[in-house]
Amino acid sequence: MPTARCLWCTDPPFEDVAVARWRAGNEDDKERITVPMCRKHLERLRKAGDKGREIKGLYYKAGWW
Ligand SMILES: [Zn+2]
Repeated sequence: MPTARCLWCTDPPFEDVAVARWRAGNEDDKERITVPMCRKHLERLRKAGDKGREIKGLYYKAGWW
């Protein structure tokens, strides 16, 4: 079993989430990844919507589209 914990905290993940990730100012170059995420962080990410949520210079958005 891989280590089961949220991408952004030490909570156990709620589900694996398809996430688009890109660098600030480089929105056309999205990386599409699947990451485990706890319920709290998944809700925050979904609330951020299409503009994404910034963490340490990287933007994250729920969904690959
Ligand atoms: Zn979390």
